[in-house]
Amino acid sequence: MIQEAADIIKKANRVTAFTGAGISVESGIPPFRGENGLWSKYDPGFLDISYFHSNPLESWKLIKEIFYDFFGKATPNKAHYGLAEMEKAGFLDAIITQNIDNLHQKSGSRKIFEFHGDSRDLVCVSCGKKYPVTEIGLDNLPPECTNCGGVLKPDFIFFGEQIPEPARTNSFREAEISDLFILIGTTGEVTPASEIPFIAKENGAKIIEINIAKSSYTDRITNIFLQGKATEMISGLVKELREY
Ligand code: NAD
Repeated sequence: MIQEAADIIKKANRVTAFTGAGISVESGIPPFRGENGLWSKYDPGFLDISYFHSNPLESWKLIKEIFYDFFGKATPNKAHYGLAEMEKAGFLDAIITQNIDNLHQKSGSRKIFEFHGDSRDLVCVSCGKKYPVTEIGLDNLPPECTNCGGVLKPDFIFFGEQIPEPARTNSFREAEISDLFILIGTTGEVTPASEIPFIAKENGAKIIEINIAKSSYTDRITNIFLQGKATEMISGLVKELREY
């Protein structure tokens, strides 16, 4: 199966990887859903934008604990590095990620569309000014805008917010122009991100899927299902592609 998938990658003209929380599980970051998912420990309500506006301090205490103290310590795994190597070797054109953990950037990938934003920057809810989180620090919560004194929030989307541009437009464009999508570690339950692989398929793309379990894509649009851990499957693909 891995060899067959590698052959399809070699023959494709434009290849896009579409990644979800599952690619970072082996870096120690749990997904949201499932038995050990973040939502079994935390109430997702603290990431609701209206809750944030009325309770910024309470929301920030959990945001800092999960997305900065915990996610911030994670390092890329073989799956992230494998995608970066595929891009350098000309086998991968872009990554659309739903993740906000920066691990694709840290592993050296270049063309990344962060569909849900990122945790590197903070944005002022009043004046819109952005700052790298490293410039502001998170010792005093909630962090404040040095320009207008407004509350800063992470530059990733909360429930109830719009998908950021230009990531949104660029991602849907990949679904129009790619002839191969590689789905990695995503359930396909979070809209509108989940629609992207379906649009790619409608536009004629083949779908290779890597996941430890079937997703909402597997029986509907997947051509080749590589069932297993992201690190093992991508390392296998990279090994085949290196010999090309
Ligand atoms: P999800 O939490 O809904 O599902 C994770 C998927 O990964 C599942 O299909 C699971 O079977 C699969 N998986 C688990 N371990 C795997 C492994 N080792 N190898 C391959 N697959 C594995 O994730 P989602 O579909 O990405 O959607 C959840 C939303 O939560 C996204 O919007 C994402 O932004 C966000 N999220 C991000 C992070 C992160 O930035 N790392 C972490 C948690 C949630």
